[in-house]
Amino acid sequence: ILKGKTALITGSTSGIGLGIAGKLAEAGANVMLNGFGDVDAAIAQVSAYGTRVLHHAADVSDADQIADLVSRTERDLGSVDVLVNNAGIQHVAPVESFPVERWDSVIAINLSSAFHTIRLTLPGMRERNWGRIINVASVHGLVASAQKAAYVAAKHGLVGLTKTVALETATTGVTCNALCPGWVLTPLVQQQIDSKAQAHGDPSRATRELLMEKQPSLDFVTPEQLGELAVFLCSDAARQVRGVAWNVDGGWLAQ
Ligand code: NAD
Repeated sequence: ILKGKTALITGSTSGIGLGIAGKLAEAGANVMLNGFGDVDAAIAQVSAYGTRVLHHAADVSDADQIADLVSRTERDLGSVDVLVNNAGIQHVAPVESFPVERWDSVIAINLSSAFHTIRLTLPGMRERNWGRIINVASVHGLVASAQKAAYVAAKHGLVGLTKTVALETATTGVTCNALCPGWVLTPLVQQQIDSKAQAHGDPSRATRELLMEKQPSLDFVTPEQLGELAVFLCSDAARQVRGVAWNVDGGWLAQ
């Protein structure tokens, strides 16, 4: 369903972004990857579907680098039809000792980057009267957990941005929605499991405790499941799905 279209996915060299990139490529989209780490492996994985796959190393905490990411995508792949704002980081600390520079970078990467990509890609989407903006928020866009002040604030902000953009595009062929995953086993969550395991020395117990605390299914969401949902949001059937914050969370928010 995405043949001839281009998807730009921030933070797509790992985890959820990589899973979504793979599913969008499988659906026919050309893909601009972004992020750090094992770039070659990510390109190889997403290229398996036979569409064009490029990578741009923009640090999305920097508005100028985001502008370059968007213009390079438009220049080299023709347009940005599907925008997935996925790049995100976490920092866990009590609010009164939360490092100020970590606050600033969580807000910049998890929230402000989406403002910049949206303001830069929306004019082209409006011109073509088709576009899909998918913001990867979190259950923490809808409820809080202790010690995650910056993350929770950024993700609630991202859900607010999603609703505003959905209203501003409501009469057009552009939709804007948020995905709100519960626990997904990615490097970002593995770090949190590792620090719990350090406390009592047992990784499998740390994993079980992490799930039991919040996620009734006692099972992780997968990047591929989120990718399938992103493909659905790109479909014609989803054209009146606008401004939702769609939780995929093993029952987290049902409690
Ligand atoms: P991850 O650490 O596996 O991947 C993060 C990606 O973002 C990587 O590709 C990394 O290179 C990139 N990135 C980090 N900082 C960047 C920067 N400054 N500029 C450009 N790219 C940058 O994490 P993940 O778990 O896949 O998380 C992806 C998104 O999903 C995040 O927004 C996260 O908040 C959200 N999320 C994750 C979970 C979960 O349980 N893993 C749950 C809900 C929401």
